[in-house]
Amino acid sequence: MTGPAIQLNSEVKYLKGVGPARAEVLASRGIRTVEDLLYYTPFRYEDRTRLTRIRELLPGQTTTVFAKVLTSGLTRTRKRGTYIYDLACTDSTGMLRCKWFNAIYLEKNKVFRSGQQVFFYGKVEQDQYGTGNLQIIQPQFEILPEREEAGQSLELNRVVPIYEGIGGLTTRVLRRLVWTVLSAVGDAMADPLPGSVRTRNSLLARALAIRETHFPHARSPLEQVANCRTPAQVRMIFEEFFGVEAGLALRKRKAKSATGIEFEGNESVRQMIKQILPFHPTAAQKRVLKEIAEDMCSSEPMNRLLQGDVGSGKTIVAVQAAILAMQNGYQVALMAPTEILATQHYLYIKNLLAPLPFRVELLISARKSAEKALLKRQLANGEIQLIVGTHALIEGDVVFAKLGLVVIDEQHRFGVMQRFKLIRKGPTPDVLVMTATPIPRTLALTLYGDLDFSVIDELPPDRTPIDTRLVAEWERDRAFEFVRRKVQSGGQAYVVYPAIEEGGKLDLKPAVRMYEHLANNVFREFRVGLLHGRLPSEEKEGVMQRFKRNEVQILVSTTVVEVGVDVPNASVMLIEHADRFGLSQLHQLRGRIGRGRAKSYCLLLAEEPYSEIAAERLRTMTETNDGFKISEIDLKLRGPGEFFGTRQWGIPAFRIANLLRDQEILEWAKREASAFVEAPPSREEFDAYVAYLRKEWPRRYGLAGVA
Ligand code: ADP
Ligand code: MG
Repeated sequence: MTGPAIQLNSEVKYLKGVGPARAEVLASRGIRTVEDLLYYTPFRYEDRTRLTRIRELLPGQTTTVFAKVLTSGLTRTRKRGTYIYDLACTDSTGMLRCKWFNAIYLEKNKVFRSGQQVFFYGKVEQDQYGTGNLQIIQPQFEILPEREEAGQSLELNRVVPIYEGIGGLTTRVLRRLVWTVLSAVGDAMADPLPGSVRTRNSLLARALAIRETHFPHARSPLEQVANCRTPAQVRMIFEEFFGVEAGLALRKRKAKSATGIEFEGNESVRQMIKQILPFHPTAAQKRVLKEIAEDMCSSEPMNRLLQGDVGSGKTIVAVQAAILAMQNGYQVALMAPTEILATQHYLYIKNLLAPLPFRVELLISARKSAEKALLKRQLANGEIQLIVGTHALIEGDVVFAKLGLVVIDEQHRFGVMQRFKLIRKGPTPDVLVMTATPIPRTLALTLYGDLDFSVIDELPPDRTPIDTRLVAEWERDRAFEFVRRKVQSGGQAYVVYPAIEEGGKLDLKPAVRMYEHLANNVFREFRVGLLHGRLPSEEKEGVMQRFKRNEVQILVSTTVVEVGVDVPNASVMLIEHADRFGLSQLHQLRGRIGRGRAKSYCLLLAEEPYSEIAAERLRTMTETNDGFKISEIDLKLRGPGEFFGTRQWGIPAFRIANLLRDQEILEWAKREASAFVEAPPSREEFDAYVAYLRKEWPRRYGLAGVA
């Protein structure tokens, strides 16, 4: 090898066989350095030590077959415009067909030729003609170059790592690249994990772990390899979680070390709270308020997450905390994710606090500029004690005279960074983040590892569980009748539509058209209102107000009611095309009902056929009202990638770890990380690790500000 030796921080573009074009492709997945490449780990492994022969294949089996191509080519099916790429292959014990739908690229690029030796991987099934012939639909494949000799290659007679292709870089290219790099860097690799942590937990050394993760040892039990539980893989997963958790622990420690406000919970505060409380708080509400008040009255700044399922009564807890802050002469900011929710909070709180000498105002972008300017002036000079608002609150020109408490409702709608922006508007305000737990408990650890937790695990009294039923399209009229009866006897109803656009690809009955149909025909005798995101703010507000006052009995709405809306008299919800909504979303929607004393009903209208996953979502909804359970299932159905979507959650994009599969390693790593940060075994080790995190954390996870 010429040139300087390959280091972990060498750029991949200088590697032999990479070059600028491939480097750019790799960069699209965040792979810029040798280290990045080594942390691009296989997504599965194929056992090619014992290949199944075609004669022994069984339908239903998912396996790798090594065979020689006989014929291949594109055939047109009877359905116009669809093509099937059909390939026949043999391994001398039998014949197998492989089929790809609309794979014109296979033909165009002349991917297969007869005589080629190919690994096919996929699920074996009977062909559709019942001839007893076996086939694999859309197999993954890897073509062995002609001159490859068995025994020498990385592809044969071993457990072979399979990588997700990147652009034009196939699993084979990536495998060879990793192999070359591994041999070049060797074992002289600094280990970022603190030595004491490694020893205590008997973790493999880094170089060995990386090598064995890519190319598992011949004797590694296959099932362990497949489940990512070899000592090598476990060490890699642990390393990643440890870094993130240590970062969060450092952040938490830093937040605690700042001097916060010591609010005083005196008799006047208690009197005020007693004066405004419209009901007896539940035991859970009392408990969390106590936790919050203790935080607020201590000199450490509060950073607390208040979890509670939809309808558990988080708002009133926040209002009590606000009174504590305001009676101590401080201002309070409450941020909500939508204008509807902000407006509703504002009206609710203003009404509640009317007997008290505090001024409550609303700041949303929809208000007139002159009004906003006035509000901002009055915030800056301290005339306003409580401001409710949307993102408008974090704009640069919003300045507080004396911000003491920040409340963020429905946190999952905000990114972590937005949280910080609002917090910085005071020297060290106390922070209360409220969420209706669409996140499973264990994962909340990672997400909000820098926060303390309070949980409202009890609903207000007299609530009967919502009765949720699945309704088929042909039962639509009966569903409408049901709504009619409930409204006739004094209740109110939501009818929810997934979208309002006409002419989109999905065949959805648009809310607007349906609203007209319901208003003019089906529910002619009632007042029907329409609410969707595109309406001007005043109109949205107007409709909500009329619905609240029961001047509108049936509210046809898109998902804008999903978050936080509170009209206790509404006891029926009919969700159209329920099969198209996500599970957490359905749960949030359903949370709008079941808020009063009347028994509530949620009708899920869905037209078959829908996918198996949709069926499972609907079944889950009919079987449970438990938000925790629902979010666990949602996560399972969607997988962490989609569940958390983009960075907006503030969830780091893990490279090896999988939040779903590796929860127990996460908890283990979190324990170790907290212990390490709270009581580091030595100053040197601690400093070295913090320095490493400071450098790596922003680059790898896009999270700034470790310590
Ligand atoms: P969420 O936790 O979803 O934000 P809210 O704060 O909107 O829930 O409360 C849901 C409803 O329950 C509101 O109508 C609220 O007034 C009512 N509520 C809250 N706590 C109690 C209680 N202890 N007793 C009776 N009703 C309550
Ligand atoms: Mg709420």
